[in-house]
Amino acid sequence: MKQPNRKRKLAMDSKEHLDPDGCLEQAEEEKKPRDGTTSLSHVPPAATQGAWSWEQYLKEQKAIAAPVELFSKDQSFPEHENGFQIGMRLEGIDPRHPSVFCVLSVAEVCGYRLRLHFDGYLSCYDFWTNAGSPDIHPVGWCEKTKHKLHIPKGYRKDKFVWMDYLKACKLQNAPKKLFRNRSSTGPMPKEFQVGMKLEAVDRKNPSLVCVATIADIVEDRLLVHFDNWDDSYDYWCDVNSPYVQPVGWCQENGRTLIAPQGYPDPENFSWTEYLEATQTNAVPAKVFKMRLPHGFLPNMKLEVVDKRNPRLIRVATIIDVDDQRVKVHFDGWDHKYDYWVEADSPDIHPVRWCDVTGHPLEVPHRANDVKILPGQTVCPTPGCRGIGHIRGPRYSGHHSAFGCPYSDMNLKKEATLLDRLREQTQANWESDSSHSKSKNLCSLKFNGKHEMVNSQPRWLSLYSLSWAAKSMPSALRKSRLMAKPSCS
Ligand SMILES: [Zn+2]
Repeated sequence: MKQPNRKRKLAMDSKEHLDPDGCLEQAEEEKKPRDGTTSLSHVPPAATQGAWSWEQYLKEQKAIAAPVELFSKDQSFPEHENGFQIGMRLEGIDPRHPSVFCVLSVAEVCGYRLRLHFDGYLSCYDFWTNAGSPDIHPVGWCEKTKHKLHIPKGYRKDKFVWMDYLKACKLQNAPKKLFRNRSSTGPMPKEFQVGMKLEAVDRKNPSLVCVATIADIVEDRLLVHFDNWDDSYDYWCDVNSPYVQPVGWCQENGRTLIAPQGYPDPENFSWTEYLEATQTNAVPAKVFKMRLPHGFLPNMKLEVVDKRNPRLIRVATIIDVDDQRVKVHFDGWDHKYDYWVEADSPDIHPVRWCDVTGHPLEVPHRANDVKILPGQTVCPTPGCRGIGHIRGPRYSGHHSAFGCPYSDMNLKKEATLLDRLREQTQANWESDSSHSKSKNLCSLKFNGKHEMVNSQPRWLSLYSLSWAAKSMPSALRKSRLMAKPSCS
């Protein structure tokens, strides 16, 4: 399961290191691609290769654009410009560990989007987000709101002071005015409190509704944590999200409620007993409000961030819908690349969003679009221009199926990256109290005994699934295990 050689190679390849002052330097892979590909800056965005326009395309396709009113504030045209600049420091949520707030820097700015980098970590963990994302905050936010800040690797927890870090490394913090004005839906009703229980959909396995806890509240959003599961299943949502329901919802609606991992008698889970055993309260049912249906319909066109290559936004069509999601098809691509995306995902945008925000738009390719120069090595995947890499933003491009995010060999891989936080040693985990909040919430007390599943280092809990398997329905076991990020 473990591949120490590969891990060592990644570490050796790293260009990130502490300079003599102890400051972190950033990788510059984009300037020097390692696998012989053209630097991204030399590849013109597809939309500039000839005159392509939405107007003409919609006419040709006899299709309609998804109406702007269907898009949320986070998806629609921004009210402000993206004022972030490369190198600026900020605080933000790690998308793979939504309960963890980290020291981040702006690695790239494109239109209204940012590529953010975890200070002290390889750039393969960089991720893209919108400049108006509620997941990012100015320097000092964690201290102000009493959240634990996950500091750059190589720094001692007790020694890290933001201002000293910025000063010593001659870094700039992102000015507060660049962060969006929050709370579009008003403040969180006071009935929602950290530690309270509810029933929530597992977004990685949307057919499952599970016992969950409010692990955190920030402005108008709450962090859903599944009892006795690690935080990779956590997610942030607003109180009107169709994914959160009051205690008893499953019973009322004839659905199966998935008990916490390790619950002694999962088939006969009792909320009354559980709330008593954990000495917790349920969120009052009356404060839940149902959001209106999303309104997206098949055949509507839109612009969608390609999850396989998140620096790219493509022309896309909705080909199917369910209550919470839309299935997107990238125009000009094979249907094997279609996938379901949340209707409220910040990665879907109305037609012309790229144009308005100054982001390149990947338009549907036609066979004669691709002009191959003599001696040029190109990716063999139809439609792929060699941009991006299966290993993430560490490499800007590829020229073979091996690195191609769309090749058959890579298509089945859910995630090829190692977990950034699993790089840490056991010792780090044991001394790291960043998850103490969720640990406490998850301490179960069944029959007078404490089952401290999450008090284990999390890397260890990943290997304890076989134990959990004994008390889980097989369908859940299978889907949950399949949803685990691959560590091979
Ligand atoms: Zn490719």
